[in-house]
Amino acid sequence: MNNLHLYQHKESKKISFEPLVPGKVNMYVCGPTPYDSAHLGHGRAAVVFDLLYRVLRYIEKYDVNYVRNFTDVDDKIIARAAENGEQPLELSERFSQEYLRDVFDLATLEPEHQPKVSTNIDAIVEIVGTLIDKGYAYESDGNVYFSIQSFDEYGKLSGRDTDSMLAGQRVEVDFRKRDPLDFALWKEAKEGEISWDSPWGPGRPGWHIECSAMSQKYAATTLDIHGGGRDLLFPHHENEVAQSECAHGQTYARYWVHNGFVNVGSEKMAKSLKNFVTIRDALDRFPNATVRYFVLASHYRSILDFSWKALAEALKSTDRFYALRAQIDTLIEDATEDAHIPELEELREHTIEQMRNALLDDLNTPEALGALHNFTTEVNKWLDGNKKAKTRRKYKATWTTLKGFWDTVTEWTGLVAESPSEYNSELCQKGAKVLGIDPEQIQYKLDERNKARAAKDFEKSDSIRDELLEQGVLIQDTVDGSTWSLNADKIAEAVEAD
Ligand SMILES: [Zn+2]
Repeated sequence: MNNLHLYQHKESKKISFEPLVPGKVNMYVCGPTPYDSAHLGHGRAAVVFDLLYRVLRYIEKYDVNYVRNFTDVDDKIIARAAENGEQPLELSERFSQEYLRDVFDLATLEPEHQPKVSTNIDAIVEIVGTLIDKGYAYESDGNVYFSIQSFDEYGKLSGRDTDSMLAGQRVEVDFRKRDPLDFALWKEAKEGEISWDSPWGPGRPGWHIECSAMSQKYAATTLDIHGGGRDLLFPHHENEVAQSECAHGQTYARYWVHNGFVNVGSEKMAKSLKNFVTIRDALDRFPNATVRYFVLASHYRSILDFSWKALAEALKSTDRFYALRAQIDTLIEDATEDAHIPELEELREHTIEQMRNALLDDLNTPEALGALHNFTTEVNKWLDGNKKAKTRRKYKATWTTLKGFWDTVTEWTGLVAESPSEYNSELCQKGAKVLGIDPEQIQYKLDERNKARAAKDFEKSDSIRDELLEQGVLIQDTVDGSTWSLNADKIAEAVEAD
């Protein structure tokens, strides 16, 4: 692949990506409606578009303007706030902050702009006014509706005709609308409900219009990439197209990227189905890097099957990568000569090329991660065949190159972003919880073992080691003392049994 190709729903194939203005990319992604804790479905969307952002920025070297919104006022937020006796904007602010902490831990980079509905009402009122002036929208009893009859191309994005749209949803008879498929741009405020003034009276925006308004304000009238979950294709994205193209007379988005669902069993993970696992649930049990790996191990367009077992499998992978990364750090520290191992340096170049090709090919992460595993296997093989410290010490140049390789992996995929020691302490802390063991107890036993070793009571020191091993605790003895980590297989077993 010479350049990025993205699968386009409309053409049913991968298309070469070219930005409208050379070198610059405007990307708008529909963000969360923060009325509750975010689940892994939201986590997946954040990670997938972060990956796309990284590919555009670090592989394709574009100047990217990434915008992701918060729908901080809507029916669900208002209803939940009323239940809690809380102000709607307080509730959405609280969950927005929680979402930001969640996605930060998933190693996602911060978008350039993260606008909220409540602070962009002016821009929303303006575009609604434009649509009325141009004859695409009408006012009715303090509400404003988009008239789908006024836009011949309605349905072009999702490929639906109006008959199937009507068949696909329960359409209530609403005498305020001219056509049952017309959708609200502005909703009249109900008694006591949060509202803003507008030329049509106090009210608040309909859901779809915010994205048309904020994408124009923070990015462009013609976006290079518009993203969101697969479930947003219809009606949300279809309606965004109608609003923006009627308001501006320009193509709304040149490329569309939709990520697939997260399933639990055969069902989509959803708040309404009560089968969800929050991002925090997963991050409480597994290292951050593991949760990110789990998401990236499936291609973004396919269904991501959630199970704790699958996360436990992902743990084995991140453990493998971190073990090698830590070993490379040690090899650099110990090295005394600056010689090269050509075969490993070639392996590095080849793997980079494989990963680059895979990521440019519609973000083929399973293939990119496969190349990363192969790299790990081959370097481990070399190390197994060259166990002597004296041999290994010769090759500082190669070890430094391999360390640089991991930096590239982090930049491109967001994986292995923490240092090996950070990862290990996270694994120990979270894994100990899963295994039901107390880190202080482990430290106590480790101290006992060290005392026994100092007293040359090897029977006792071995028996403590075996006891810890049985619990899943791995001990590493170094010149500076003993450290511990946890056996990923044991954690996997415990999580599965839970
Ligand atoms: Zn949107």
